[in-house]
Amino acid sequence: MRKFLTTALFLACTGGGSVQASKAGVSLDDHTKSLASVLLQKKWIHGSADCESNTDPAIEVFRYDQSSYVLRQNKCTSFEAPFIYVLFGDEKVLVLDTGANERALDFPLYKTVQSLIKENSPQGGKTEKELLVMHSHSHSDHHKGDSQFEGKPNVTLVKPNGRAVRQFFAFSQWPDEEAHIELGGRNLTIIPTPGHQEEAISIYDPQTQWLLTGDTLYPGYIYVKDWNEYTKSIARLVLFTNTREVSAVLGAHIEMTDEAGEYYAIGTTFQPNEAPLSLSSGNLAALHSAFEKSDTPRKIIFDEFIVAPMNIFQKSISNVARWLIQ
Ligand SMILES: [Zn+2]
Ligand SMILES: [Zn+2]
Repeated sequence: MRKFLTTALFLACTGGGSVQASKAGVSLDDHTKSLASVLLQKKWIHGSADCESNTDPAIEVFRYDQSSYVLRQNKCTSFEAPFIYVLFGDEKVLVLDTGANERALDFPLYKTVQSLIKENSPQGGKTEKELLVMHSHSHSDHHKGDSQFEGKPNVTLVKPNGRAVRQFFAFSQWPDEEAHIELGGRNLTIIPTPGHQEEAISIYDPQTQWLLTGDTLYPGYIYVKDWNEYTKSIARLVLFTNTREVSAVLGAHIEMTDEAGEYYAIGTTFQPNEAPLSLSSGNLAALHSAFEKSDTPRKIIFDEFIVAPMNIFQKSISNVARWLIQ
């Protein structure tokens, strides 16, 4: 069970204002509730104190339902240990993000996705679905595995840069419009959410009722590059979730421990007591409400996540990295 800070400490950390998670979204059916609860309680592979002796797979595969998977990269292959989402439609398979390592030898992502396609194909049926590879945003821990997909048959890869993203989704008024992708009986909504990074998007899947938020919102220490854009993106997500059923808000990392407001230091390769992956639309609403009280860039600590503005040095590194992939 998640433990909570005393109210006094929580108030001190949030700069004196208590933040109530407001009610958001609409109710879920019992089947979705029970699946979401399994995901909430899921313990992931979480690295080792001694990575030399780590025997976990390079990629953990969690089958949520018959056509939705969550993959986690082993912390001993990259401390970032990002999550990757694989969603099947009748015609296409979405692979959202490709992880933090390039080499198939250490990190066999393409092979893993191929095995899921095989598992998902009706016996003797068509196995050649189009693979649509895209990214929650353009940080390298989410697109290193792209090279494993490049040049492979039936693969459409949207490059992780602003031009490619705008072109592929035909955005003309980024970030003030939504786009859609049809996977075949599964129509996803793409919501621009710049702030953590310029090209960040979030995705809503009506089948699982997941809101996939990448590094825009996850249980961890979230650096925000453009505070103003970020507050607008969170407002956009709150507006969106007010009229949708959301079973879970799922990001791309876990960095929080199971102690409220506490996180593992950057570079940690062993997280035995990490927090659940799932957040909720209530967490989004609480963040939005904090921004409504004050939009001054500052560190805000919640039980389940922390947001903080990037400093000049972090912004410079981010700008150079972004320039390299344009
Ligand atoms: Zn990021
Ligand atoms: Zn990341």
